[in-house]
Amino acid sequence: MSEVALKVKLLRYTPEPEKVIAMAAKLCYSSADIDELAEGVDQKDQAGFLEKLMDMGHLSPVEHASFTFGVEGVSRSLLAQITRHRIASFSVKSQRYVSQQSLGQGIFDYIVPPSIKELGDEHVEKFEKQMAQIQDWYDEWIEALGNQGEKSNEDARFVLPNAAETKFVVTMNARELLHFFSLRCCNRAQWEIRNLAIEMLRQVKEVAPNLFRNAGPGCVRGKCPEGKMTCGKAKEVREFFGKL
Ligand SMILES: Cc1cc2nc3c(=O)[nH]c(=O)nc-3n(C[C@H](O)[C@H](O)[C@H](O)COP(=O)(O)OP(=O)(O)OC[C@H]3O[C@@H](n4cnc5c(N)ncnc54)[C@H](O)[C@@H]3O)c2cc1C
Repeated sequence: MSEVALKVKLLRYTPEPEKVIAMAAKLCYSSADIDELAEGVDQKDQAGFLEKLMDMGHLSPVEHASFTFGVEGVSRSLLAQITRHRIASFSVKSQRYVSQQSLGQGIFDYIVPPSIKELGDEHVEKFEKQMAQIQDWYDEWIEALGNQGEKSNEDARFVLPNAAETKFVVTMNARELLHFFSLRCCNRAQWEIRNLAIEMLRQVKEVAPNLFRNAGPGCVRGKCPEGKMTCGKAKEVREFFGKL
């Protein structure tokens, strides 16, 4: 085990997400009862309807479609950031129940930041040696704590780095996803969570293109909201997300 790369998979999502949202909105604006909600929804121009809904800021119907992703090959550092999104639901690989002890099979999986790779092979080797050193420390603590499974794992893990790989399943409804994409697809977001957010957006666009047509950082929909902190690349960013 050693360096690993980002992997994201849209595992499940609300079937016909755009129609579910249209049905919820129809209930608000028409005299239809629940047996009639699906009528005409197939024929309706979902793109125009969803755009109108979002322009109005009427976002509660958008909460009825949910998307569940499997994510691996990301760091504990990313985990600390993504779990700040309180409307999302998470299930994370445990460092208590799953030991990182090497047992002669190399070292725990970890993420190497691109900036370190750009410094060259020598620096990557140095980083790898540091990870190997941490593995030795971890193994030492497992033994010192009596090698008692989760009881030893839960404290030996204190020496593991932010670079250690994690895996999780995350579910967000479409309203939370749109918010997440606004913050985390932005050039101001940290590279790892930005890469993840862009990949998640790419995958939801395939299954709900109208819903996520204008998704991405704030500058995709108008003026950059970052003020003085703007990256100054709104034109390029709009082009990138327009083609995604
Ligand atoms: C570029 C960048 C830099 C950052 N730097 C830091 C940092 O240095 N330190 C740090 O601690 N965090 C930092 N963060 C994290 C940031 O402060 C938020 O915690 C994170 O982005 C989650 O955003 P959120 O609260 O809007 O989202 P969510 O938790 O997903 O919530 C979505 C929305 O629901 C509403 N909401 C949710 N909970 C509440 C509540 N309790 N009360 C009222 N409204 C609520 C809000 O409208 C919120 O926008 C950074 C984020 C970014 C994108």
